[in-house]
Amino acid sequence: MTERFTGSFTQQEPIPDDAIDAAVAVMRTGRLHRYNVADGEAGEVALLEQEFAAAMGAKYALATASGGAAMATALRACGVGPGDQVLTNAFTLAPVPGAIASLGAVPVYVEVTEGLVIDLDHLSALAETVAYKTLLLSHMRGHIADMDALMAICDGAGITVIEDCAHTMGGAWDGVMSGQHGAVACYSTQTYKHLNSGEGGFLTTNDPDIMARAVILSGSYMLYDRHLAAPGPEVFEKVKYVTPNVSSRMDHLRAAILRPQLRKLAQQCARWNERYDRVEAGLRGTPGLTLIDRPKKETYVGSSIQFLLLDWSEKAVSEVLRRCASRGVELKWFGGAEPVGFTSRYDSWRYAPVEKLHKTDRVLKSIVDMRLPLTFSLEDCDLLARIIRSEVGAVWQAGQTA
Ligand SMILES: *Cc1c(COP(=O)(O)O)cnc(C)c1O
Repeated sequence: MTERFTGSFTQQEPIPDDAIDAAVAVMRTGRLHRYNVADGEAGEVALLEQEFAAAMGAKYALATASGGAAMATALRACGVGPGDQVLTNAFTLAPVPGAIASLGAVPVYVEVTEGLVIDLDHLSALAETVAYKTLLLSHMRGHIADMDALMAICDGAGITVIEDCAHTMGGAWDGVMSGQHGAVACYSTQTYKHLNSGEGGFLTTNDPDIMARAVILSGSYMLYDRHLAAPGPEVFEKVKYVTPNVSSRMDHLRAAILRPQLRKLAQQCARWNERYDRVEAGLRGTPGLTLIDRPKKETYVGSSIQFLLLDWSEKAVSEVLRRCASRGVELKWFGGAEPVGFTSRYDSWRYAPVEKLHKTDRVLKSIVDMRLPLTFSLEDCDLLARIIRSEVGAVWQAGQTA
């Protein structure tokens, strides 16, 4: 009998009951705007920011309308402006170059390695030729580069690092939480990320001046003293007249459903990793399939898994995807010239100039990606691995004998 998978790759777990109760309680007050609080009340957003800063090991946190809004705010707060060139990963998702372009700045792409992290040799070569000021570093699909080496390159070249931690909330490098290496870190709470408020995001930083600018940018009017995870009023005095309001605030309703989820983040990350490790174990040793080595120093959150079909023809990769899909296994391919669903390539963002990146092209052509929602059981994960293994094996064998 041919096994089939019947689960849904887009089905997240329900919002927990305590979060639903908190949301209903907020709605009963009618006070949904973050600065609409009763006497003596801190408000769900300010409390969430305080708790999020503590959970990420940061001094300050700001809750935003989306991860993209957090990145654009971070870039502005770090002084990026129109025409500035901002380094970023060639392997990432559309909100990253989009945040750069939203400021009238220009993304400059850095190559990706077979380990799916930013290529530090290419980064250092770029840093030597042009005086870049900013790197928007995407920890794409949760793969973390050697952050000590990366920071040495960027510190040496005077480059400010902004981390896109959309896929590393809860992860770490060598025991240091992801997001604690650069000047600012950005997170997303969009439905498919590690916390789910539909849309939403955060930025964290330890720098009081960046934080004060970020708070005013996000749309605080002169109500910044209502923030609990922000510097004192003397820091805001320096920036309050010269920082524009680019409204991108989070509201109490979303904060209310995030606070109970945040308390369970570590537990959820452990559940993702159980699933990741099961699929990875089931795929190990499949001929023609390359797993991504996870460095010892990396604490990852396996909310999705990637493998490479290195140097396979487009036809053979498509055949694997087609055969897996016919058995209910939804795989995404990052190699397609046309952007499809959430996958797109650095050269499909045609608003920005591109240099051909040969190393990246080879890797992108080989990346196969699968989401691992927590609604999948461990037995589901074993089944997924068996199906992928058999279909990759069948196409690989046909290629060997052709
Ligand atoms: C989701 C995501 C973001 C932020 O996206 P929003 O949808 O704006 O919250 C940023 N980077 C990556 C890699 C993402 O996947």
